[in-house]
Amino acid sequence: MTFASVLDAARAAEGELVELTQALVRVPSVNPPGEAYRDAVTLLGERLGELGYAVGYHEAEGRPEHSVRYPRVNVLGRLGDGHPTVHLNGHIDVVPAGAGWTVDPFAGVVRDGKLYGRGTADMKAGIAAAVYAVEILRRTGHTLRGSVELSGTVDEESGGHAGVAWLCERGVVRRERIDHVIIPEPLNPDRVCVGHRGVYWFKVTARGRVAHGSMPFLGKSAIDHLCHVIERMRTELVPALGARSTEMPVVPAAARHATLNVNAIVGGQAGREPQTPCVADHAEAIFDRRFLLEEGFERAREEIVELLARAEREDGARSFELEDLLVFHPVRTPDGSPLISALERAIERVYARKAQRVASPGTYDHKHFARLAGIESCVAYGPGTLELAHQPDEHVVVEELVHATAVMALALLELGVFG
Ligand SMILES: [Zn+2]
Repeated sequence: MTFASVLDAARAAEGELVELTQALVRVPSVNPPGEAYRDAVTLLGERLGELGYAVGYHEAEGRPEHSVRYPRVNVLGRLGDGHPTVHLNGHIDVVPAGAGWTVDPFAGVVRDGKLYGRGTADMKAGIAAAVYAVEILRRTGHTLRGSVELSGTVDEESGGHAGVAWLCERGVVRRERIDHVIIPEPLNPDRVCVGHRGVYWFKVTARGRVAHGSMPFLGKSAIDHLCHVIERMRTELVPALGARSTEMPVVPAAARHATLNVNAIVGGQAGREPQTPCVADHAEAIFDRRFLLEEGFERAREEIVELLARAEREDGARSFELEDLLVFHPVRTPDGSPLISALERAIERVYARKAQRVASPGTYDHKHFARLAGIESCVAYGPGTLELAHQPDEHVVVEELVHATAVMALALLELGVFG
């Protein structure tokens, strides 16, 4: 019986799954700044080569962050040339370890059935699961009918411009060849993630007029102007955003609304010593607006433009500039995608309970596959718990790693990649 043999083969591969995850974790591919990327992708590339993949390395030539000191290198392995093609993608970069660890964050310690380390959950265990999902199908006597692409990419944690985005822009990742994409991000192994909200980062700069600080009435304070805008956002915009909900199943449920966060604020003589008595003629703040599929970017931006214009109209002394820093549009896998149903059915078999369909509160590389390569059938599915990502003592439960590998294998089988 196929199901039992695949699950047994995943269990038998437990040691190899742990070993590959450990090997990847022991390469501290920390971003920022983009440490040891070449070592990490070479390790993955060599393993794929040993397993029979045709392996290519892709340096993000032309990207400003691709430097001699910190090269941005991606790896892509290809197995077979038929259809359907499933592309399995994992980012090899991890966020800095930070404080509060009780184990060495780059040692890959296994304790009480848990594998610890920065990047275990997010997402080196996911990469190992992708590799062995394919292997256990071969070991259980299945034949490759379609093809598999397996990529290890950089910089997901900082936007993915030199990683997945670059591969899509350069045509290395192509819609003509790829039918489905699975990104084994840690979204809990009984959940399928079908997309994310949009991101709009912008900077508001307020201008004022300098004057002596003992006679502030002679000047115009840029800090006062900016505070007015932030207060407006807090009392008018934020409640309005909180009242808007998306149909997308974003988790946690509190993130099912539009949100706004102030990322940074600076003005006047901030950080300068000694201070002088001056009215601030300059202040700026950076905002992180998460917008819903139902809102769209244009509306989200227009709201900010209007808010600033109103503040200017009410007081002629106020003047603001708006600068767009970053825009990622929301993405959603079409409901009828066979990829979603294949994974959900596989989860139901392995976990003997109904799979949960979710969307992510943050973004991940799905946006680039969808927007740049035009690949609609893309989901995130992988081992590891979302809440543990980026935390001290990040870990993946070894049994979950095994189960998620079996789920991915069963989905590849159902999609007809193997027969
Ligand atoms: Zn991640």
